[in-house]
Amino acid sequence: MTAIVRLNNYIAGAWRAADAEALPVVNPATAETLAEVPLSPAAEVAAAAEAAMTALRAWRRVPAGDRIQPLFKLKALIEANIDDIARTITEECGKTLAESRAEIQRGIENIEVAAGIPSLIQGYNNEDIARGIDEHMFRQPVGVVAAVTPFNFPFMIPLWYLPYAIACGNCFILKPSEKVPLSSQKLFDLIDQIGLPQGVVQLVNGGKETVDAILDHPDIRAISFVGSTPVAKYIYSRATANGKRAQCQGGAKNPVIILPDADMDMAAKILADSAFGCAGQRCLAASVAVTVGSARQEFVERIADIASSRKVGYGLDAGVEMGPVISQQSRERIEQLIGLGRQEGAELLVDGRGRAVAGYAAGSFVAPTILDHVAPGGELARTEIFGPVLSLMHSESVDEAIAMVNSNRYGNMACIFTSSGAAARKFRVEARAGNIGVNIAVPAPMAYFPFSGWNESFFGDLHAQGRHGVEFYTETKVVVERWPSEWSRTF
Ligand code: NAD
Repeated sequence: MTAIVRLNNYIAGAWRAADAEALPVVNPATAETLAEVPLSPAAEVAAAAEAAMTALRAWRRVPAGDRIQPLFKLKALIEANIDDIARTITEECGKTLAESRAEIQRGIENIEVAAGIPSLIQGYNNEDIARGIDEHMFRQPVGVVAAVTPFNFPFMIPLWYLPYAIACGNCFILKPSEKVPLSSQKLFDLIDQIGLPQGVVQLVNGGKETVDAILDHPDIRAISFVGSTPVAKYIYSRATANGKRAQCQGGAKNPVIILPDADMDMAAKILADSAFGCAGQRCLAASVAVTVGSARQEFVERIADIASSRKVGYGLDAGVEMGPVISQQSRERIEQLIGLGRQEGAELLVDGRGRAVAGYAAGSFVAPTILDHVAPGGELARTEIFGPVLSLMHSESVDEAIAMVNSNRYGNMACIFTSSGAAARKFRVEARAGNIGVNIAVPAPMAYFPFSGWNESFFGDLHAQGRHGVEFYTETKVVVERWPSEWSRTF
């Protein structure tokens, strides 16, 4: 029997053990324990913040062109190790190997954008705002910053923040999800090789106690968070009450409208990939499809066929199209919500509950599920399921469908399938969500666009990625200056 490895924290350029209780990290397909993750106490956060504060003095004065050089090395190292990282993501998170590789690629794109920070961090200025007086705006780093991340994209989401933060001259602390800490260990194993000065980045494993210590630490100036809405609200409130900047991305309940003039084959295929890809555990997963008028029959038949034929299994096995959900607890919660939908009067068109996968009896599998005639005002229509479950609703007009979309308390994304430019434009203008798809069902912004959740999907103002990331991680300093000189006096 091999001993189970206990994970370490990375502080001041070295791995160290935390004196703390630990939780098992469980492979959701096999139920095997992969490692133990420490629930770091406040003392570990204090040590990480101290190391970051010490490094900050020199790091913020390193020219931006030099600060980005380690990022090029990081990109090359991630590419060289992509198979190993993808396997780790699949083992701890459950998604298929292809999904894991795609996630790594999206993470790399953020490193590439952050490598442009010498340009992105530029300020602006005016000469002669009054005779002989100039005014400039510079961007300076905020200081020590931290990110708290969720389980569903364990490698990509830390990279929504880390590259921007450090390239802008900040020092950074990551607290990854305790359910999937191994992907961050891999990331920091590579970061250890890229020549960053010690203390520029820290990894502190843990749970709520660790997060609370981050929220209350006086030297940590900004918090980036991604996770569920109740926790996003809590973190936003506590961080801002403590005078910190905060950008907190929350949960979602993502609607997609299908008009009768849509290409139905394409709509059903793309929507199935959105609803069931990553086992429905994407914050941009479609969870409600609203058909308009005669779209109903054709669409429902097609999506039911695709859902019933999707191959569910262990993400490392060839041919598998969908892996397990993150835990048995999550499987039970999803199955209860499917039951609730039935109690509220929905028809269970495809039932993915109780799916056994040969060879993986202890896996937390839920197969694709479709509920038809879901009540628009019911609890199922309002609750984030975060599993491979698609709810179907029907409407008689585009206006009615848009009103259904806009009754959603979240606003992470909304999509439409149509061949009408006018309908698509109306939807784009009126839909109350921050990421919009037109004949697209996972409208994930590229790294040079902000990840624009709205309503209960986001608390803050500046989002992750791109220019928003640069603004979040910098403070503006305005300088008004006059230089009396012999030349100006005699002129
Ligand atoms: P979660 O909210 O349970 O956990 C996220 C992080 O918060 C973890 O690091 C966890 O340790 C920490 N945490 C949990 N409870 C806490 C508490 N009470 N106090 C302080 N910290 C706490 O989320 P999850 O289950 O890991 O991730 C799934 C959720 O994330 C879904 O709701 C999904 O929609 C959302 N998500 C949103 C986006 C987005 O861009 N909007 C992206 C990915 C995931």
